Amino acid sequence: MKIIFHVDVNSAFLSWSAVKRLKEDPSALDLRTVPSAVGGDVKTRHGVITAKSIPAKKFGITTGEPVMTALRKCPGLILVPSDFQTYRQYSGEFIRILQRHSGMVEQVSIDEAFADMTGVPDPLAEAAALRAEIREKLQFTVNVGISENKLLAKMASDFEKPDRTHTLWPSEIPEKLWPLPIRELFGCGAATAARLNSFGIRTIGDAAGTDVRILQAILGEKGGAYIHRAANGISSSVLHPEEEDAKSYSNEMTTAEDITLQNYAEALPPILRRLSGKVASRMKRDGVRAFTIGVMVKTGGFQRHSRQTTLSLPTDDPAEIFRTADQLMHRLLFAEEGNAEPDGEQEEAEEGLFGRGEVLRLVGVSAAKLTNEKEVYRQLSLFDLPPGETEQEKAQKKAQEEARKKAQEEAQKREAALKDMMDRINRRFGDKAVKKGTL
Ligand SMILES: [Mg+2]
Repeated sequence: MKIIFHVDVNSAFLSWSAVKRLKEDPSALDLRTVPSAVGGDVKTRHGVITAKSIPAKKFGITTGEPVMTALRKCPGLILVPSDFQTYRQYSGEFIRILQRHSGMVEQVSIDEAFADMTGVPDPLAEAAALRAEIREKLQFTVNVGISENKLLAKMASDFEKPDRTHTLWPSEIPEKLWPLPIRELFGCGAATAARLNSFGIRTIGDAAGTDVRILQAILGEKGGAYIHRAANGISSSVLHPEEEDAKSYSNEMTTAEDITLQNYAEALPPILRRLSGKVASRMKRDGVRAFTIGVMVKTGGFQRHSRQTTLSLPTDDPAEIFRTADQLMHRLLFAEEGNAEPDGEQEEAEEGLFGRGEVLRLVGVSAAKLTNEKEVYRQLSLFDLPPGETEQEKAQKKAQEEARKKAQEEAQKREAALKDMMDRINRRFGDKAVKKGTL
């Protein structure tokens, strides 16, 4: 049997900001003990809340809500700015502690990770030890969720906070998972929940007990299948310990003749276009898209050089990969200033490779920082697009609306016919002959 932990830092950004303040000034107010939040522009009070303390949560303040409405709920709310450098540092220390407890850790986001603890004799004791170590060494708390797969472990870590361990073994699903509102199911966004509610599916248990085909009629094939599986606690227990960045696609090509300052304008674009097309079609085949596009070359002296950039949206489009690769290549060859920021190797000399009299004998294009359709779907459903975002969704919603109206009308007709019949019976036999409730 697999044992999976999901470890989640409690109010991560807020805790980390609080810990930093206390480190700098031990007499400072501990932000965790008062209504406080991270987010937005503290001075102009614009933007959204990215984290809140547990006392702030009691005022109904939620992550993602505008700072303005949060202040209306709690005028005394203390706002602190984000400090990503500190967050990255604490995140790293947190993951390193987990890695000492498990050889297989999959970091899911800056403040949460799965750890495979299969074989641990006493999971609860192990979780307690882990929590204590993090609390003592790093001064912040985590919740640990324990189960046989990732979804259940993740749901468990979200139960009562802070600094708690919860199990959600498959046998505990009816008691601990099914009574929860469907909105709380991982991967069920607000719009999905609203749609399910309108069909009378209110709890996770309701969804678990609904025929998958009905869920698919309401949410579409993929969405319905996902909700049905998830509501029944079915999910993977396979961890992916390496960072997503480690996976990549690349294609390279040794050039027929050296590429030089004289021939590059003609010779290079067709090669880049071909390589971009190959990378794109491999990604399409595997159903993934990449945030990071890179180029690499080998010079006449067999030295490798590379450049890469991260896009704001993931792509599998060969034209976009080509355009990006072409820009990167120009920067590599001529050290042109680009708009995109390089986040790979930056050792290239100011004047670029051609400026140094180099020639190219090998060219490559790569795509990394991959995201798959499932992940995109997960993110979409977590954050829910505004309803009616696409024509297909509009049509689907309209069809659902019509189906619901029709069902409602029919119910009303039946109700009216029934009432009519009772009226007639009552007129014949007197008022108490038939009561609706007894029928
Ligand atoms: Mg968290």
